[in-house]
Amino acid sequence: MSSVSEIKNPVESLAEIRREFGEHGGVNMSVEASTTFTVMTPGTMPEMFQGRKAAPEGCYLYGRHFNPTVYNLSAQLAALEGCEAAYCTASGMAAISSALFHICDSGDHIVASNTVYGGTYALMHDFFPAKANIHTSFVDMTDLLAVEAAITDKTKVLYAESVANPTLRVVDIPALAKIAHARGIQLVIDNTFSPLLLSPASLGADVVVHSITKFINGASDIIAGAVCGTETLIQGLMDLHTGPLMILGPTMDPSIAAKISLRIPHLALRLVEHARRAQLFADRLVGLGVSVTYPGLESHPDHELMKKLRCDEYGFGGVLTLDMGSEEKAHQLMDLLQNEYHFGFMAVSLGYFDTLMSSPSTSTSSEMTEEDMECAGIGHGLVRMSVGYTGSIEQRWLQLESALRNMGAIG
Ligand code: PLP
Repeated sequence: MSSVSEIKNPVESLAEIRREFGEHGGVNMSVEASTTFTVMTPGTMPEMFQGRKAAPEGCYLYGRHFNPTVYNLSAQLAALEGCEAAYCTASGMAAISSALFHICDSGDHIVASNTVYGGTYALMHDFFPAKANIHTSFVDMTDLLAVEAAITDKTKVLYAESVANPTLRVVDIPALAKIAHARGIQLVIDNTFSPLLLSPASLGADVVVHSITKFINGASDIIAGAVCGTETLIQGLMDLHTGPLMILGPTMDPSIAAKISLRIPHLALRLVEHARRAQLFADRLVGLGVSVTYPGLESHPDHELMKKLRCDEYGFGGVLTLDMGSEEKAHQLMDLLQNEYHFGFMAVSLGYFDTLMSSPSTSTSSEMTEEDMECAGIGHGLVRMSVGYTGSIEQRWLQLESALRNMGAIG
């Protein structure tokens, strides 16, 4: 684990990896559209199937296994996350489920954060126990004693989101890594909310997963994910007998990989602007007495931790939440913001260039039981905003302030 001050800015690592040009010298990489690959001698094929001529140095076997274009994007993801290797998947859920299926066998146990994306919660709370006899204890990951207490001799994974959806709590990755590694457990971190900003692998995580669908792609037009870790992990995910990516098949299409690779170069620019606007809005909302949660606010319980762990060029992320006190008020605010003031859109997801707003308790966290939502602090009045960067800041602020004033939420 690197000390926090030694962690390299991920965009520098990205600039150092091998540049893949197109087949005809194009500045962008070509798309390898083939699902199957020729061999020059009949003896090569059995060697490939025995794993002795594996991609990328050896030969490519079949499109559901490794693909050169997807490999190139994956190398970019590995560089961004400071990992030895990565491989891209058809969705963030494919990345999460494949990583966990790879590490856990039937009978194993996961200790997970009690505030994770609703789909991840459903995977662990409902799907894994029913389909795979893998059980999860959900705990407050910011309470390290509770984490230790939840570990059993069957625990294989500690799982958390670096910045949690939707509570925006930040986990102490180095402290969790220490607990995990002392017990021979792997720390898996979902870094969807904080690419570039936090580098979980450099802070001690063993596996980093992403929903590329969000900030990394940035245009809400592609569903995609990635698993980042060691070369052994990635080869294991593609094992011909037990690899979840190879056997369950949720790999990425090469044309999608080529498209996403064109958005990675401006990820840093986009993140800086998302964060600049989110911070400004959060500061001004506090000034108006609105109940707002944002890791960049001094009042945020993990503000100091985030300051210590982050790469400070990228601010504190592009997502903030407002607590409007009731579901009715939350809906009223979103309705006004979309239909009256044209501030943003009522839609799930995040990382889009326009602002997206949703009410987690009735959408992306609705898979959780009422009791688990309460435990995690996800109230019915919560509005999650992924702050976009279209329009001018003052134009957007006026829209936000006017909606709050219109409904009497500010004086
Ligand atoms: N992880 C987080 C933190 C998410 O917010 C989401 C989706 O909202 C996912 C994973 C799942 O990603 P995908 O929709 O790409 O499968």
